[in-house]
Amino acid sequence: MKVELENLFSVDESNQEEVINVYNRYGIFVNASEIKRRNVKASFNPVFTLDGDVTYEKVTALYKSLQYELGIHSIGERFYFDFSDSEYEQAPLFTLNSTGNSPHMFLEDKGTMFSVNPYCECCGLMKTKQLSPLVIDTTQMKDRHLVHVSGFWVASQELVNLMKKEKIKGYQLLEVIHCGPKQGQHKAYQIIPTQRLPKRSSGRVRLHFATEQAPCSCGLNGVIQGPDICKLSDVSRLKGDVFLAAEWSHDGQYVYRKTLFSKRFRELIIANNISREVRGEKDCNFGPKDWLFDPVLLK
Ligand SMILES: [Zn+2]
Repeated sequence: MKVELENLFSVDESNQEEVINVYNRYGIFVNASEIKRRNVKASFNPVFTLDGDVTYEKVTALYKSLQYELGIHSIGERFYFDFSDSEYEQAPLFTLNSTGNSPHMFLEDKGTMFSVNPYCECCGLMKTKQLSPLVIDTTQMKDRHLVHVSGFWVASQELVNLMKKEKIKGYQLLEVIHCGPKQGQHKAYQIIPTQRLPKRSSGRVRLHFATEQAPCSCGLNGVIQGPDICKLSDVSRLKGDVFLAAEWSHDGQYVYRKTLFSKRFRELIIANNISREVRGEKDCNFGPKDWLFDPVLLK
């Protein structure tokens, strides 16, 4: 797995050479194709791999140089996790991170009852406990098989039928409450994993944006977590196909656990043409209805 960092900022065209020189000085080669000219401004969009040579500390120092030497203050940052083919082929489990490169994979909560408690007093992240079935407008699902609602996955009747037929195990179903127009409503079910992965946090990649303030001491807010990792000996003991992650994730307001699925489940989704096979966010197969499964790394 490679960690890639993308930068985005614009400078006066006359400063272009100097920007390239600063990157080169830190051992990062900036390709001419990463520069797009717009009038007198040149837009830089380099993507480079963080590794033993290009460390996060080095990048932080690079930003300081861009800032002090060239007055570039606003640097956009985005991380990508780039997995090798063998990581896709060997992973027994996959974290489901998206069911479409589209805002339509998210559905609005229409009044589910939750109790809310603080998770971290410092940054204000909160923890919820679900007290009622999810309430959503199921007409919004249209022909989607799986949508995301407040940290949970909601499946269509067709997907549930397929999971039952193929004997996918490790979850319970809770029918959602429809709130919206009568016409076009569907039956839909929250997938509730019944198993949680054993904790194995050491060795997990944790990053933060150098351009933002330092992460919170809770280790969640301001931290970009790398892929889930699992011990090989733990994996061999696991039964079933659906799991909750060992560690919390968050959406900026609430903490939640991501859902992981077995290799068999992922293969089923691809074999039944529910999604094309997607390998990473930058894969051209990642369309509005394609599912992004990231492999779990074995340690
Ligand atoms: Zn916190």
